[in-house]
Amino acid sequence: MKNGWEAVIGMEIHTQLATETKIFCGCRVEFGGEPNANTCPVCLGLPGALPVLNRRVIELGARAALALGLEIQETSIFARKNYFYPDLPKGYQISQYDRPFSANGKLTIMTADRDDHGHAREWRPMTIEIVRMHLEEDAGKNVHEGLPETDKYSYIDLNRAGTPLGEIVTGPDFRSSWEAYDYVNHVRRVLQWVGASDADMEKGNLRCEANVSVRRVGESSFNNKVELKNLNSVRFMQKAIEFEIERQIAAHESGEGVNQETRLWDEAKQETRVMRSKEDAHDYRYFPEPDLQPLRVTAEFIDRVTGEMPELPDAMRDRLMEGYSLSYADASQLVADRSLAEFYEAAAKASGNPRTTANYILSELGRELNNAGKTAAESPVSADGLAELIKTLDAGKINNNQAKEVLVEMFASGRTAAEVIAEKGFEQVSDEGAIAKIVEEVIAANEAQVAAYRGGNEKLFGFFVGQVMKASQGKANPKVVNELLKKAL
Ligand SMILES: [Zn+2]
Repeated sequence: MKNGWEAVIGMEIHTQLATETKIFCGCRVEFGGEPNANTCPVCLGLPGALPVLNRRVIELGARAALALGLEIQETSIFARKNYFYPDLPKGYQISQYDRPFSANGKLTIMTADRDDHGHAREWRPMTIEIVRMHLEEDAGKNVHEGLPETDKYSYIDLNRAGTPLGEIVTGPDFRSSWEAYDYVNHVRRVLQWVGASDADMEKGNLRCEANVSVRRVGESSFNNKVELKNLNSVRFMQKAIEFEIERQIAAHESGEGVNQETRLWDEAKQETRVMRSKEDAHDYRYFPEPDLQPLRVTAEFIDRVTGEMPELPDAMRDRLMEGYSLSYADASQLVADRSLAEFYEAAAKASGNPRTTANYILSELGRELNNAGKTAAESPVSADGLAELIKTLDAGKINNNQAKEVLVEMFASGRTAAEVIAEKGFEQVSDEGAIAKIVEEVIAANEAQVAAYRGGNEKLFGFFVGQVMKASQGKANPKVVNELLKKAL
């Protein structure tokens, strides 16, 4: 590490569980709805309103916990976290404190150091301790811009109040910004993969905070840490951590020291700045929520959810490498998204050519999907449709360049490979009888060249190939043409 210093980083991720309704009431969860339209006495925090736990939160929470290697606790307890803020009209948030929903997680991710251009060097596994994932409600939102007279007023939108969250907390296990970066991307992908959360950072339904401190290599105690917030993308987070590591090393070396505080990332200035000094847990005066029973989860429930879990992306990546002889890089790209991975496997099985199928998905089809802003599940070319094209290619009926052109046309028009090939007149003639006839005609029409070729001018072979291809309007299978010409000459 830098000048004998090492970074110590712990991560907190808040992820919105993908329910239709809120955690303690029946109000709809909707992104971008009319302000305050999705509210009721419970999520407005009116006196006397009573929370009722949404069962779906527990199912999705269980999926998230299992995907992250956490143990679901038999009993967990909701607690009030007391603080005042305009977007929290109750004066407390219902969260969990000393008895979280799940704990004791071990999660193995893949990580890599990066060069100056951000390109990964060697990928290596890294196991992280996930201390806990507890369940809680989100607060509302204060709106300070984009509405009339926001220079004079702030607005409060409570649509988000009561949206279910899982808060995922790691140990101080990360030693670099890139490890934290790879971790957040891993978590995002598995949460989407198992359907626990949309985990879309742009919509704010996955938010992360990093606790960063630095210490001399070899020290086991911790120095003051800084909590970084306002990290709107994984890349911003990585840059914020990097900046903070450098800032803290300089502050320790100059003797100025580091304050325990919360800092925000300012993307425009590429620096962190102080938001507030950090509260301790005792400032929140947690106590058990008297309006909710302790949450008890049965072994049968956990067994059922476990049985419904899909194969996780890293396991699928390893299986694709093993079963279809794919490289780590290709298999990793294919499992970046569950619909893409499933599309690949269906197409590879149907085509019988996993290698070429991977190539076409990662280049031509991937590019078309990207340009159209579609996922593999929305692809106008189905897995079977792609497999049909690859089988036609493998049978030698069309060549590689033609197959690529056909795929682009299939994507644009939604037609089958056979239809596009017929329309473009790409179908190669492999019928030996038909080609042999053309070969005969070409030989008969070019006596002088035949004599010269037989006299030793072997360069003329290309001339004959060209003549046959021309006579067949480019449709003759070049392999068959070569064989028949050699025989005839
Ligand atoms: Zn409500």
